[in-house]
Amino acid sequence: MKLAFNDELEELARRRGFFWPSYEIYGGTAGLYDIGPNGIKVKQKIENLWRDHFITSSLLNIVEIETPMVTPQRVLEASGHVESFTDPLVICPKCHRVYRADQLAEAQLKIKTEGMALDELKKLYSEKEIVCEACGTRLLDIQSFNLLFHTYIGPFTAESGFLRPETAQGIFTAFKRTFEAERKKLPLGVAQVGRVARNEISPRQSLIRMREFTIMEFEFFFDPDQVPDLDSLQNKIIKIRLSDNTLVVEKMKDIVARGLLKHPWMGYFMASAVDFMEKIGFTADEVTFQEKSEKERAHYSAQTFDVIVSTKRWGDVEVAGIAYRTNYDLRRHSEFSGQDLSVSVQLAVPVTKKVTHVWVNRAALGKKFGKYSVDIVNALNALAESAKEEELGNKEKIILNLPFGKVEITSDLARIEFKEETVSSEKIYPHVVEPSFGADRLLYAVLDHSLRNKEDRRILSLPKAIAPYDIAVFPLVEEEKLVHKARAIFEMLKKTGFDVLYDEDGTIGRRYARVDEIGVPWAITVDEESIAGRGVTIRDRDSWTQWRVNEARLSEAIEALRKGLDLKLLGFA
Ligand code: AMP
Repeated sequence: MKLAFNDELEELARRRGFFWPSYEIYGGTAGLYDIGPNGIKVKQKIENLWRDHFITSSLLNIVEIETPMVTPQRVLEASGHVESFTDPLVICPKCHRVYRADQLAEAQLKIKTEGMALDELKKLYSEKEIVCEACGTRLLDIQSFNLLFHTYIGPFTAESGFLRPETAQGIFTAFKRTFEAERKKLPLGVAQVGRVARNEISPRQSLIRMREFTIMEFEFFFDPDQVPDLDSLQNKIIKIRLSDNTLVVEKMKDIVARGLLKHPWMGYFMASAVDFMEKIGFTADEVTFQEKSEKERAHYSAQTFDVIVSTKRWGDVEVAGIAYRTNYDLRRHSEFSGQDLSVSVQLAVPVTKKVTHVWVNRAALGKKFGKYSVDIVNALNALAESAKEEELGNKEKIILNLPFGKVEITSDLARIEFKEETVSSEKIYPHVVEPSFGADRLLYAVLDHSLRNKEDRRILSLPKAIAPYDIAVFPLVEEEKLVHKARAIFEMLKKTGFDVLYDEDGTIGRRYARVDEIGVPWAITVDEESIAGRGVTIRDRDSWTQWRVNEARLSEAIEALRKGLDLKLLGFA
């Protein structure tokens, strides 16, 4: 049976060792996938490119840390996930099949449902006929389902916990230590690449919707009053679709100047995200930033753009999100942990401001009012917060209306003082922009994007930077002297630092077909001519062009190819 093009990727992924359902021998579990030997090479190269792009090569201070998957309940209460990390679920009363209620309604009614509140969905299901795809029964039973994977930490007196749904909370809870280790300077980016788990309701979309996957993200902490130097990225053209559906394709600096972004740092990382997507094979034009509406945004976000690319089977897919988390998380963790996570920032120019201060003669106040003095001091402090100097400043007496009665406080007992103070720093909760990329979705998207047919063959035209191997080496036939020479070349190239695949099994045609399907950009073949000292052939995966290259200059020739240079013009071939 000829598979539809849609399924070719899945078929190839299984056969050629990119990915397949986990625990297959036990029937598999929805949403869990193994990444095979070729898949992991591509995925690791994507991760390393991401690290290199956003961390190592960045002119900003962005560092990487590692924090646990297992997360105490309190942390995810503070972050809001225990309360809000939910999706709507609907169950078929007859066959018990379970669906994401918003997605099923969207598919059957052809309307947009993302971000719809539970009550709105319930109303929709009661008004329209939405049915079970398996047995046709009308569906009505909508519930809210929390996607956190619950677990217990330790035996017996076990503490309740969850597997992390994002790496971000580990970064926020480690913020103080990381900030101190990085010399207490803003801006500071803190990155993490790691596994996360989300108990997705009915994952049926391959690597696009998994229950455990790898996130590559960083929290970029900054002082919201400081405007970034947009440097070389300012002229990058980015394509954004605003939440009101307007399409804007403009230079990043113009998008920032028009005030379309809640902070210029959003623009900086959106432009940088396009640069990264180009490195893994997408053109800038193939990347769209879709702004989420207020209803669709996560609870912590003031503005979010999904980074969208198109796939053959699943249509538009979000491969990353760029969110302006403001100071929400640091504030919440300060409140819940009782630790002060604010930082001191230097003001550009010192400012002189009026400060209010409550002066108390504790001994005299205690003598006169006894146990009520604490309430009196609290009331004076509260009053001082909202007090105006002309009303209360340095008054001879202040009258307080307290639950136990009216009291008169004379200035020898306590008074509210107003002073001028010049300050050169202030305490703030840093704001955060978070670019968050899904490594597995990117793996899927680049495979999908690279898969093409040439004649009756399939070719995975992966960008060379993320191909599973740099180059393959074959003897033309399995003859001892050819095998011997091919192995010597394989060893030499490995020692030079190339990632090389060696293969001598089957016909040369089948070996070329295999490397085309796993996306190896070039294959070297050793033949009789090579034994006679007339060089080896290098075959190009995409054009199937072959060049004969002098063996002594092989490494140089590969380097030239990797740089995209023409071997003929350089005189190699
Ligand atoms: P989010 O925190 O929901 O914005 O997710 C960040 C990124 O993780 C997304 O842009 C996706 O690339 C990826 N992602 C989210 N959910 C899944 C999932 N269920 N399976 C695979 N990747 C996912």
